[in-house]
Amino acid sequence: MRATSLVKQMLGLRSVTVVEVLVRPHELLVKLRLTRSRLVCPKCSYTTRSCYDTRTLDSRWRHLDIGTHQTWLSCQLRRLRCPTHGVIT
Ligand SMILES: [Zn+2]
Repeated sequence: MRATSLVKQMLGLRSVTVVEVLVRPHELLVKLRLTRSRLVCPKCSYTTRSCYDTRTLDSRWRHLDIGTHQTWLSCQLRRLRCPTHGVIT
């Protein structure tokens, strides 16, 4: 089993691809890519394949620690233009 598959399974990640796992002293950084091709507005049921833009900086979230390592998830987020709610992540 590949390290990326192992980390994805251990962290219970769905609808993402684990691109890279970086192990640093006391820190585990998991870089993700979204696999869903259709973007969904978080406030309504509007979906689209059209991406308004992609953030240039990765967003980071803290996950539950693995052993003594702090676990961080990192991903570039895309935004869509919802006809009701405007441009939204
Ligand atoms: Zn919406």
